[in-house]
Amino acid sequence: MMRLILFGAPGSGKGTMGDFIQRDFLFPKISTGDILRSAVQQDSAEGGQARSFMESGGLVPDELVIEMVRQRLSRSDLGTGYVMDGYPRTLTQAEALSRIACESEKAIFIEVSEAEAVERLLSRLTCNNCGAIYNRLTKPPKRDGVCDVCRGRVERRADDNEEAVRQRFRVYAERTMPVIDYYDRKRVLARIDGGGPAARVYETLKGLIA
Ligand SMILES: [Zn+2]
Repeated sequence: MMRLILFGAPGSGKGTMGDFIQRDFLFPKISTGDILRSAVQQDSAEGGQARSFMESGGLVPDELVIEMVRQRLSRSDLGTGYVMDGYPRTLTQAEALSRIACESEKAIFIEVSEAEAVERLLSRLTCNNCGAIYNRLTKPPKRDGVCDVCRGRVERRADDNEEAVRQRFRVYAERTMPVIDYYDRKRVLARIDGGGPAARVYETLKGLIA
């Protein structure tokens, strides 16, 4: 079983790459957000604890997240591999993940310049009814301002202004560097150029998986 860990700042195209991998390799995409939501829905002991942290506006502590990820990875639907998306975020999480066995592990850092990430994020449009994501340049809705899926209104998210977007990019780079260094030292890290069209980035990425 292969464990693929994707890193990439907002605007790097990480989400799209994860979707392509899931489609072509049938690797489930595992994100902490999804794990938290399903633990809360299933009302597990950990889900209940996580919910009380979230409801009080606090962060869910590392050890709780680590335990929920461990439980998720012990399920039998993982097939020949899985993709970690947005996890691990801290060194403690990375070390805990390393203790969960897998046959091969690859961490891939999708690098993109701040300028390109910002341009992509600022051209992103979201349906304010169903959440479908469009892009003014590369994937506009068929009718201007109207969602293809639900006919809702499609517009730029309020927090996608330039200053906020630059800030998100820098915070990501700063917080994630220690985790990326961890995989570099472990000699399982590959860096790929995330600039340019998604299809071309994916060709490079695929070459690292097969
Ligand atoms: Zn919609």
